[in-house]
Amino acid sequence: MLSNIQKQIKKIGTITNVSDDILSILLKPINQISVNFPVKIDNSIHMFSGYRVQHNNYFGPFKGGIRYHPSVSNDEVNALSQLMTYKCIIQNIPFGGAKGGLNIDVNNYSDKQLESISRSFTKALYPYIGTNKDIPAPDVNTNSKIMDWMTDEYNNISGNFNSTCNMKSVFTGKSIDFGGSHVREEATGRGVALMIKHWAIINNYELKGKSYIIQGFGNVGYYTCELLHSYGMNLIAVGDHSGYIYSKEGFNVFNLKQYVEKNKCIDNYEYGEIISKDDFFKLKCNVLIPGALELQITKDNVDSINCDLIAEAANGPISIEAEEVLQEKNIYIIPDILANSGGVLVSYYEWLQNKRDEYWSEKYIKDRFDEHIFDTFKKMYDISLYKKCSLREACFIYSFEKFESIFNKKYTLK
Ligand code: NAD
Repeated sequence: MLSNIQKQIKKIGTITNVSDDILSILLKPINQISVNFPVKIDNSIHMFSGYRVQHNNYFGPFKGGIRYHPSVSNDEVNALSQLMTYKCIIQNIPFGGAKGGLNIDVNNYSDKQLESISRSFTKALYPYIGTNKDIPAPDVNTNSKIMDWMTDEYNNISGNFNSTCNMKSVFTGKSIDFGGSHVREEATGRGVALMIKHWAIINNYELKGKSYIIQGFGNVGYYTCELLHSYGMNLIAVGDHSGYIYSKEGFNVFNLKQYVEKNKCIDNYEYGEIISKDDFFKLKCNVLIPGALELQITKDNVDSINCDLIAEAANGPISIEAEEVLQEKNIYIIPDILANSGGVLVSYYEWLQNKRDEYWSEKYIKDRFDEHIFDTFKKMYDISLYKKCSLREACFIYSFEKFESIFNKKYTLK
């Protein structure tokens, strides 16, 4: 994934006037932190390896999720941290990019054990994070419960037992009772669905009655489906780590969510027919949403993709070679750095509320969020029209040029 993003950045570099110096800054993260720590589990010691890559903080504190997954590596986290820098610039948020990860299969541990592991990981990261330094959030296999444990542990270590507002702001994506924000949980999926809606409005494309398929039915996947359902769209296939299912008539997304909450995956769901991953990506549909992991659409399966629009809810789901084929096939792509940037926007709202000790209502946040997402989408879409380039290229060009202008001002001032 790292090489995919680096190739993308170099490619876009050839179509902007941004200097090579700026590109060379963007290609390397500021800090790469690697921690190894022991946790006692059932009377034996387990060693864990975690990472935090802080890509850039020229705009403000580092910001980005922490994922728990067996595939986590320094390179993967590095790549994801770069994307965070661009998402914050695109959304005009005063944060820089970061990402963290723990190499772990969560299915092997109980809740109690995950709490011990998360608290130990926080201890290991403690010197590197902070409300004005680096603010982690949830990502794959992490959630508000884990953010609450981490916030609590951070406060314990710092001796701040009163949990004042500033200390809560070290993590975002917390539960509401722990200083979390309304709309944070659904923010990323809500943003994905809103971008699909705005693309449809601009292109005079009726969403009602249209079909879609989604890979990943976790936090981002479900909330994307919830809003698409409200637009009258029909979910005809869904997949997760346990397999893929198809239904010509469409799935009830609320029923499926209840099932996944109880069973942790879609395996053995009573409706639909089981299909292979290959068949999933061959399905004819209107909208395809990769909402799980990176590099899912590659040169191996791109020829069979048959849809009008792909919205990248996940980070980096399409390889650079596959994207070229999709462009030849006239399949429009809403790229990850735009499509899933709603999460960091509400994380910013949460951080502001914590810092100011304020409480914003759900309606206030939704209204502000929806308007902001629409403005951002329109700005990037207009750049793509003006520059006659893809939406991904437009997002990168905007990010690079804005980064260059801030960077130059900082250095001129010194
Ligand atoms: P999650 O843990 O809630 O859900 C992940 C989903 O992916 C689950 O349905 C899981 O079964 C599925 N999955 C895992 N491995 C898979 C595999 N090998 N094949 C198919 N499906 C698999 O995570 P999430 O927060 O929904 O994140 C999903 C994607 O969205 C990730 O790429 C993440 O980086 C990105 N993202 C998340 C946020 C956020 O706010 N949570 C923000 C921006 C981007």
